[in-house]
Amino acid sequence: MPTNRDKKFSGSCACGSVTYQVNGDLGDVIFCHCKQCQKASGHYVASTSAKISDFILTNQESLTWYQSSEQAKRGFCSRCGANLFWKLTSDTPQMNISNNEIGIWPGSLDNPPKLNGKEHIYCSSMAEYYDIQDGLPQYDFFPGYQSEEDIYGVEK
Ligand SMILES: [Zn+2]
Ligand SMILES: [Zn+2]
Repeated sequence: MPTNRDKKFSGSCACGSVTYQVNGDLGDVIFCHCKQCQKASGHYVASTSAKISDFILTNQESLTWYQSSEQAKRGFCSRCGANLFWKLTSDTPQMNISNNEIGIWPGSLDNPPKLNGKEHIYCSSMAEYYDIQDGLPQYDFFPGYQSEEDIYGVEK
């Protein structure tokens, strides 16, 4: 089984017409329960991350970006419908998330390494049909945010 120390990973959508490589570290997994993640994925989302400088699209034939909010867009395969990526569209320093990273749905990795879960975010938007029982920290919005002026939170 590969480990995160291998620092070289590949991934694809379900039909293979979007493929990518990551030559570097994969981030801890963040679980997002926001309404947009629910609607886009059909459940809640698990996302690892990579530095943009380590990320290469090796086939983007059917990759489509959906601008899901003012700040972010979601990459999916327009042929098979696989959810793949999440990316900020501009610098939003108040969100404490770097614009030089891309969120990657880890199920799309060909040989996912052992990754650690980090936290659950947007638990205030959780649906009623499931519970969280893994003991990881849970936040109502992004960690440190108290309210939600838009789906990604604006610091008070
Ligand atoms: Zn596909
Ligand atoms: Zn979300």
